Amino acid sequence: MGSVDSLTPLRGSTSARTLTDSYTVGPFPATGHRRAPRPEPVRVTALVPSPEVLERLAACAEAADVSGEPDRDAVQVLRESGLLALVVPKSHGGAGADAVALNTCVEQVASVNASAAIMLFQHCAVTSRIVENGTPAQHRDLLPKLAAGRWLAASAWSESGAGADKKNLATQARRTPDGEWILDGAKSFTTSAGLADVYLVLAQSRDDSPGPDGAAQDTGYGAAGQTFFLVPGGHPGLLPDTSMRLSGMRGSATGFVSVRECRVPDSARLGAPGVAASIIARVRNSGASLGAVAVGVAQAALDAAHAHAGRRGLYAHQAVRHRLVDLATQVESARAVVERAGRRTAADPGMATLHSKLAASEAAERVVADVARFLGSAGYVETHPINRFGRDARAVALMGPTNDLCKELVSLPWNR
Ligand SMILES: Cc1cc2nc3c(=O)[nH]c(=O)nc-3n(C[C@H](O)[C@H](O)[C@H](O)COP(=O)(O)OP(=O)(O)OC[C@H]3O[C@@H](n4cnc5c(N)ncnc54)[C@H](O)[C@@H]3O)c2cc1C
Repeated sequence: MGSVDSLTPLRGSTSARTLTDSYTVGPFPATGHRRAPRPEPVRVTALVPSPEVLERLAACAEAADVSGEPDRDAVQVLRESGLLALVVPKSHGGAGADAVALNTCVEQVASVNASAAIMLFQHCAVTSRIVENGTPAQHRDLLPKLAAGRWLAASAWSESGAGADKKNLATQARRTPDGEWILDGAKSFTTSAGLADVYLVLAQSRDDSPGPDGAAQDTGYGAAGQTFFLVPGGHPGLLPDTSMRLSGMRGSATGFVSVRECRVPDSARLGAPGVAASIIARVRNSGASLGAVAVGVAQAALDAAHAHAGRRGLYAHQAVRHRLVDLATQVESARAVVERAGRRTAADPGMATLHSKLAASEAAERVVADVARFLGSAGYVETHPINRFGRDARAVALMGPTNDLCKELVSLPWNR
């Protein structure tokens, strides 16, 4: 097993399909171009993916985009990379990375393989929720597996009829007389579906749960009476389906996950019953930003533009050089807002995280479209990676909270 601190590859880690660990939080029923030199990223905790990891992830990206199949190779690289340990505290075998380091890693992974970056991001997001809201037993049982890359985590919140704000969940969690829970429902757009070893499932358990002041407050995302559950991938009541065909992020195994008569012990519950919306509301305060994915994709597009300019001798034209400067300025600005979100130094760090997703995803879509035009006919060839970057960049705005919902969350307090 490799060192988490150096994020050197972990050799001989066990694949998801051959895991024999039991989920011990409770008894489950038997059922080309030379890149412009870039300064070293800010190393707040000295955690960056190794060049070998980036090369291996880059090598998978195109084939997964063409096939649209879940990218098992990329997941294996992530498992071996040490990156899955990023946000696990050192006390539980992790790297204890802060949001700046996490965003930097996610950006770097996205610059070579955006699908792998969203799988990494979702894993770290679920892991952070466990760190923040888990019981000591959940920490003891889950965090070492997540840190070692033996368990990949996924989040199953969205449903086709739930709405971007997840207020109308059809997935129900009912408590049995003996204190267990039975989950029933169908989730959609779950990244790492069928590849993950544990899913954070959002379900409606009751609709009358009072807030701390006796009345549930609308946080804009999620609703009263919703509860989180950690369901292992091997649970017989959890059925992944990766038949969904996305236009971008095609290696990310983003698909459906159903829970059917899925009985879990009370120890699988993450957080108190009915308080998922307040857990969701605190997520943005972590500073982890999907904007980092957008920055990585934008950087990849900018690199492609430089590669083209170098090959075609275009640097001789002042107009071309200035066009590249305009693109670089947009990438740098997006990177700066994501870094600010990660630093959590804004007066309201949660708002800064929402702004960073909006700014970076919009910048990435603009940069990729501009680079596609800059590439001329070469960029219009189906197999040019710029087309993948365009489809991948678009996904960031659609991922939760969608950009529309981010605007709603930023502006909600003005209307209270
Ligand atoms: C590549 C990819 C990966 C994803 N991975 C995951 C994952 O791992 N886990 C997961 O749970 N989900 C995931 N999602 C789903 C994502 O989180 C979205 O929340 C979900 O798709 C929202 O659905 P919708 O846009 O279809 O919602 P709809 O409610 O149908 O929204 C339709 C449109 O209206 C806008 N809108 C809706 N409600 C509001 C509102 N209250 N205020 C302002 N605008 C609004 C939306 O922004 C959208 O543009 C993923 C999506 C994509 C594309």
